[in-house]
Amino acid sequence: MDFSTLAVLSGLPDDPHHAVGLPIYATAAYSFESLEEGAHKFATSEGYTYTRLQNPTVAALEQRLSALEDAIGAVCLASGQAASFAALLALVRSGDEVVASPGLFGGTVGLLGQVFGLMGVRVHFVAPEVEAVRAVLNERTRAVFTEVLGNPSLELPDLAGLARLCEAHGVALIVDNTFGAVGALARPLEHGAHAVTHSLTKWASGHGSILGGAVLARSSEVWRNYPQFTTPDPQGRVPWEAAGPRCFLERVRQLGLSLGGMVLSPFNAYLLFQGVETVELRVERACRSALEVAAWLQEQPQVAWVRYPGLPGDPAHARAAQYLRGGFGSILAFGVKGGLEGASRFLARLRVIQAPNVGDARTLAVHPWTTTHGRIPEAARLAAGVRPEMIRFSVGLESPRDVRAMLAEALAAVEAVGEAG
Ligand SMILES: *Cc1c(COP(=O)(O)O)cnc(C)c1O
Repeated sequence: MDFSTLAVLSGLPDDPHHAVGLPIYATAAYSFESLEEGAHKFATSEGYTYTRLQNPTVAALEQRLSALEDAIGAVCLASGQAASFAALLALVRSGDEVVASPGLFGGTVGLLGQVFGLMGVRVHFVAPEVEAVRAVLNERTRAVFTEVLGNPSLELPDLAGLARLCEAHGVALIVDNTFGAVGALARPLEHGAHAVTHSLTKWASGHGSILGGAVLARSSEVWRNYPQFTTPDPQGRVPWEAAGPRCFLERVRQLGLSLGGMVLSPFNAYLLFQGVETVELRVERACRSALEVAAWLQEQPQVAWVRYPGLPGDPAHARAAQYLRGGFGSILAFGVKGGLEGASRFLARLRVIQAPNVGDARTLAVHPWTTTHGRIPEAARLAAGVRPEMIRFSVGLESPRDVRAMLAEALAAVEAVGEAG
């Protein structure tokens, strides 16, 4: 079935009352009829015992997300941050190494450095390009982590090339597919990524109202190279033998939810399930507007540069045609002339909402240098493609004409001050 069909029909559970929408199971625990039934459910993880492990409303969302990216399964978590955390936690142990791109979302860079770093995991930050990654791969490497579209650098890695390299080295390629909008814009699993993570807070929610995250995986034998999957667990069970390619997702559930407690609330799962039904329509509309806004910005004298994969001259344009479907995304980045000063004057006059989020129904602007990336060292910020004059712009569902008018108004203010000075 096509994406648009799966987005509205997949995951709907059989309901005893024949409800058409998704019911919210607001319960912490589930009852047993006997000692034997309780023992069976605990031993096999079949059925429901406690919502920290599994919940029917959350399970419906997991099924739907899995269908949309043709994955073998999904685990939903409380946030995108929790998803990245649990996905990596499932793969590394003290002494292991991870390769990550320097242009990752600021929270991911912090997670790798400040959390996994303290746990004794060494992280190599190198550009997500085959030769650069190959140069740092070694027998301790357990994961290569990249984003489908750098945030906010908007660089697009050679996903198929990286996947081939990882496959050859027996190491998992994990792609943060948040900007892929749950598959409406990009599907890295199809290009060889072993697993993807998502912040569902962004396009899946679509209204900037809730947080959520997910980890999805494709069928793969890569997990056979990990001692945590090929040696007995505390119950004496060898995960690869017991679960095959699902062993990775089981470990994400075990560490992230059962033990880590980073649980998605059933109410948020219900809203996300609904948000996903319109994601393709929203993404298409926002992509069209973003292209229009990016092309217009490029012509403005107060704008120093524009990055948008949909512009023919953009460094990501050729790969975007290969890896993105239905458009070129709804995020663009641009530099206002006058450096930090220019950006400050521009934002002071901009009527677009300033907020650190993307994929909202509303257009949002942010100054990454002083906000999302403000806490990481200046050299790392520059390496991440963040610059003092840079504005990240997430185009929403307003009319593009109105968005352009708001931009024009703020740019005129920059120019007026520039001329006076
Ligand atoms: C927002 C975001 C995250 C973190 O997600 P939260 O839901 O805010 O925890 C991770 N990766 C990317 C690319 C993001 O944009």
